[in-house]
Amino acid sequence: QNVKKYFPITAGLMLKTVGNVKAVDEVTLTLKEGETLGIVGESGCGKSTLGRMIMRVLDTTEGKIIFNGQDITNLEGKKLRRIRSQFQMIFQDPYSSLNPKMSVEQIITEPFYVNGIASLKEAKKKVGPLLTRVGLKESDRTRFPHEFSGGQRQRIGIARALALNPKLIVADEAVSALDVSVQSQILNLMMELKEEFDLSYIFISHNLAVVKHISDRVGVMYLGNLVEIGDKDELYQNPFHPYTKALLSSAPEPKRNVKKEKIILQGEVPSPANPPTGCPFHTRCPKVMDVCKEIRPVLKEVNPHYSVACHLYQ
Ligand code: SF4
Ligand code: MG
Repeated sequence: QNVKKYFPITAGLMLKTVGNVKAVDEVTLTLKEGETLGIVGESGCGKSTLGRMIMRVLDTTEGKIIFNGQDITNLEGKKLRRIRSQFQMIFQDPYSSLNPKMSVEQIITEPFYVNGIASLKEAKKKVGPLLTRVGLKESDRTRFPHEFSGGQRQRIGIARALALNPKLIVADEAVSALDVSVQSQILNLMMELKEEFDLSYIFISHNLAVVKHISDRVGVMYLGNLVEIGDKDELYQNPFHPYTKALLSSAPEPKRNVKKEKIILQGEVPSPANPPTGCPFHTRCPKVMDVCKEIRPVLKEVNPHYSVACHLYQ
């Protein structure tokens, strides 16, 4: 709810704060149980920062994180750890997120001690079934991350994420480092596991095709703002926001031979240290109006459960 993350910019010997990088500038969204919400946007739009705040590994500057009706924004210590065992994260680079000195068994059992949940003996019992469920072999437990391919390493990352029976998984560019053929295997595995383990996903990616494949709903971010959010099919077929339209027009359509009109945006994404007044997209928007330069549009429902932040629709 109204979540912001500002990183201070400091200068001089006294490290005086001279400004802020507005990485996330007020985002409100809801994830329903059992749902996959895709968050899409170009690099630097704040989507990873948002994911990390939701996971409570990064504090919010303002706003609230609410999980199952409980405000967890300021939980700390044991209370935070207890709740955090219900969230897990899967990262882009399964190699750097897996400790190279730990065996697969150690990697998968580690979350149990970190959260003080099971004895070593109990934790070890879970390793075999988890490995086979993600498509690896029980005997892989004694091997080390460098012995596996990128896709297999991501399977280990998924097994580790599942170990504590989480409710929510935040996947940040989880397949972006993988070959395209391996990407779909991992996405399909994640979709199967979601049903089996009653998971909910927040799936963060710059890749529109990947987000389309896995998501039920999609949110589009631009310069720290959520500009459009709603049903996946509706968003991909008939987007409202001028930025979403441009973003989708530039994405390749591999399967169809449809010629799309490509909307070329002028200029660069402004710096989040000095974002434009009014609508964050006004410096590049083909539909810009006077009001856009002064007043920031808020997310408003344009269809049931479908919201857009743009003056064209207010
Ligand atoms: Fe474009 Fe104005 Fe809509 Fe922003 S509010 S996206 S500048 S039309
Ligand atoms: Mg990122």
